[in-house]
Formats: sequence, C-alpha cells, structure tokens
Amino acid sequence: MSLAARLARPEILALAPFDIAARANDAFGPDAIKLDANENPYPPLSEGALAAGLNRYPEPQPARLKQAMAALYGVAPDNLFVSRGADDAIDVLVRAFCRPGEDAVSICTPTFSAYAHFAGLQGARLIETKLDEDFDFAADAFLAAVADAPNLKLAFLCSPNNPTGNPIAAADVLEVADALPETLVVLDEAYLEFSETPSLAAEAVRRDNLVVLKTLSKAFGLAGARIGCAIANPELIAVAARALPPYPLPSLSIEAALAALAPARRAVHEERIARLKAARDRLAPVLERSPLVKAVRNGGGNFLFLEVDDPAALADRLRRLGIRARFRPNATPGGLRLTIGTDAENAAALRAFGVATDDAPARRAELVRDTKETRIAVAVDLDAAAPRRIATGIPFYDHMLDQVAAHGGFSLVLACDGDLDIDGHHSVEDCALAFGAALSRALGDRRGIGRFGFALPMDEAEAQVLIDLSGRPYSVFEGSFEASHIGAYPTEMTPHVFRSLADSLGAAIHVKVAGANDHHKTEACFKAFGRALRQALKREGDALPSTKGVL
Ligand SMILES: *Cc1c(COP(=O)(O)O)cnc(C)c1O
Repeated sequence: MSLAARLARPEILALAPFDIAARANDAFGPDAIKLDANENPYPPLSEGALAAGLNRYPEPQPARLKQAMAALYGVAPDNLFVSRGADDAIDVLVRAFCRPGEDAVSICTPTFSAYAHFAGLQGARLIETKLDEDFDFAADAFLAAVADAPNLKLAFLCSPNNPTGNPIAAADVLEVADALPETLVVLDEAYLEFSETPSLAAEAVRRDNLVVLKTLSKAFGLAGARIGCAIANPELIAVAARALPPYPLPSLSIEAALAALAPARRAVHEERIARLKAARDRLAPVLERSPLVKAVRNGGGNFLFLEVDDPAALADRLRRLGIRARFRPNATPGGLRLTIGTDAENAAALRAFGVATDDAPARRAELVRDTKETRIAVAVDLDAAAPRRIATGIPFYDHMLDQVAAHGGFSLVLACDGDLDIDGHHSVEDCALAFGAALSRALGDRRGIGRFGFALPMDEAEAQVLIDLSGRPYSVFEGSFEASHIGAYPTEMTPHVFRSLADSLGAAIHVKVAGANDHHKTEACFKAFGRALRQALKREGDALPSTKGVL
C-alpha cells in the first residue's frame, strides 16, 4: 500500500469515484449524440465565443490543460491534479488526509492564511510554529517543535513565503521530508517564478511524501480564472483527487488558461515576470528611504514586505490616496505587504510613501493577436534596448525584425505560432500588424516624440526609409526582388510588411531600395527602417510634435 493510501482518511478510500456521465460513456467519440448528462442542447444566450460549448459539462480533469501544465512544470500529466486555484488544492489535501479531531496540520507563521483556514474547516488540529526573527525557516527548530505531534498528516511550507517573501532552501525542505516519513510535506510554490529558488516539482515526483503546489494566479495573471495544481507521485495524486468536486474547472477558465499557456505566449510571460522582478528590485531601495518605513524585505515574490512604525496611520494614509495594500494586524502587526503593480501604480505607491522618483513614464505595450491562422504575442519597450527575442517561425524574418529593434534602439519580444505548413504569408503579415500596433500603443498620445525619421545606405544595396509617425497610415514602396524566397521568407512580402506596419502603427512609411543582392536589399530596408524609427521614436520633450495639437 502506498504511503498516500495509508495516510488517507478511510472514508476517502472507501468512496467510489464520483459517478459522472462522462466517465460512464468514455468509450464514445466526440461526435456521439449526447443525451446522457441532462445538459441543455442550446448554448446560453450570451455573445459569440463566450457561449460556445458552455451548455456542456467541462472535462473533470481537462486533458489538454493537464498536458500544458505538466509541460510547464516539467512533470508528467499523471503527476498532477488541476484545481480551482492552489487554494482548492490545499482544501482537497486537507480533506483527503485529515480526520477531524484526530489528525494534525502544521504551519510556520506568519504565512498564507489558507492553510489554517482549511485545516479549521476540516476540524484538523493545527500545530503552529514560528519562523525565526528574520522570518527565515529553520528546519531543526521546526522538526523539534513537531517531533512529538501524533498524526501529523500535512506540513505546509511556503517558499517564497507569503507575506514575508523569504524563500526556503531546497535542502531544508528535503531535510524535513526525510525526517518526517509519515507526513506529507506540502511545498507551496505560488511565487516561485519571481524568485531565484529552484522548483522542487521533480523531487515531488520522485518521493512519496512531498507535494508541490502551483498556481497560474500570480505569474500568469489568471487569478480570476482560478487555476492551480498539486504535483506529486501518481499514487498520491490519485488518492487526493478523490476529494475533488466532480467538475472543478469552468470551461471558460480552461480555455483562458490554455490560451495563456500557448507556446507563442511564453516569451512575453517571461518578459513580464522579468519586468515585475526588476520593478520590485528598483522599488525596494527607494522605499527604504521613506520616513514611513523601518525596513523592506525583498524576498522573491511579486511583492515587498515592509516593516513600519505606525501601521494604523499608514493604512489610513493609503486609504485616503486610494491605494490598497495588505495589512494583517494580527498575523504581522508591524508589517504590510505591497504588491508590485504597473509602473504608474508603483509610482503612485512611491508618492504615497513620500519617495516619489521623477522617472519619465514608461513607453511600453503588450499585445496579443489571435486568428485562425496565427497566434501572436508581442511586447515592446521604447526606452529599453533589451531584451530582443523574436520567434516568428521564419528565421530570416526574425533576423529582420531583430535588425529593426536593434537599430531602432528598443526592446522587442515577439512570438508567433502560425500556419507555416501553408506558407509564411500569414505569419509575416500578422507579425507586422501586431508589431506596428504594439509600437502605436507604446507611443500613447505621441507627446514628446521626434515624429520624423530619415535613413539611408547599406553596402552595395541602398535603402531609403522616410517615416512620419503622423497617426495617418500611408505606405510607398519602390523596388523589386529577383528571388522568390530568402530561406523560408517570401521576398514579395517586404512591401507588404511595410504597408502592414504603416497601417497598424499609424505612420507614413516610404521605402526605396536598389541593389544587386536580394538578401542585402531586404536587410537594408529593415535596418534603415530601424534607424529611421530610432529618430522618430526619440523622446525630445513633452510637446506634441504637431501644429494641429493632435497626432
Ligand atoms: C495566492 C496564493 C495561493 C493561491 O493561489 P490561487 O491559485 O489563486 O488559489 C496559494 N499560496 C500562496 C502562498 C498564495 O499567496
């Protein structure tokens, strides 16, 4: 008998799996006539895509989502169950393993309140141990504190810890798991993506008493969709999953999560996480200078933990300014947790703490563009030269867009998942449209920009590019190419790319190109375009560069 089966509540083991129509009829294909689940044959009366398929029950454990999350965390699908957020996974574990009044759950405080909440709900005994005075976890002290506790079924550890941010060293987690062979150690990695700590998901798969919790709420911006999972060995997962509700995840949430986890989104997610970490690391020393703050703990979440002299006065001040921060007077009396927001939100927070910086507002934008032909995610930052990561699926085009960003002097992250099995046309055009739209969004009201750009020759080929970021699309292309393709890139697309960019960026773009070699000519167009953009995007003040007063 596996450890999980020995530790499970007897009721859980005695329970037959919930009898749902899908399971009884799983031999049928997707085209079968579906008269088994008392669903309404008509979709709900809400608009378009929202309604599609909503009259049907979702898959209890959606195979595609399990696959995507397993790939994300580097485990196999049978190593996880998906739940309504990690919160639900906590509840499921407590209900699967803790007999009311008999079994115990340990927590290390101050920490995430859900562990104690769900333990209380189930009537499990709560063993509370304290983190040390620096809010660090000390394995020896913890093990000494729980040494004599009978029936300790679950030991919750949170790394990085909420609300203090402190990570727990992998060695300490494993020491606890080794020392407590009859306890399931549950490591909550809700914020791991924002920290430098390695995940223990692979260890959880290998061991019989380690569970890792994950969530899409924090790093993937899906808190409203409620998607999380527990990762462990397959026996443990199968036992715990018996305590799940029959259809834990709504179809809309499943679709939202699958869209967010699509490969074309990964680069922009990584860029976002890097940006939030950079903002956190920038804010920490500035907040330390605030007269209202005693100390700043920058652990490794998407938040900072601030220790302050007068939390009540500060709470009052923030309330008046309309800024919500997390005070927990009982759990962390002298402290508060401040989440990292957008640049504008962070700037407002710094002003509230009396340490405003006069950084110019960032000119950044993110954009996703999905059609049947392409799925694209793009992020630009006009005031940063890095990162540049471009993956259109067409290496030569990647190289060309990289030239635009490099010569334009801005950061570009762009990934496209397109129908290259047909040809490169859709991917090339749609990437240009998405890129131009992202540039336009980042420019905002176009205040303070150079507006005009000019650029000229490259080797034997010569390309002239003139730009006016006028807000009005217009494109002129003079020149032609001999070769049909450069690599997988169709040369006929170059005029098209500049037209798409002109349209979605709202710019007049005139390109003239001549020369002997198509590769050089194409590259000259993109490089010259980057150079012209560099001038036109440049911030030169605050004036609107138009006598009309609007662009
Ligand atoms: C936010 C949070 C969770 C819960 O995440 P959901 O997936 O949204 O339920 C779990 N653990 C910790 C430590 C958290 O801060």
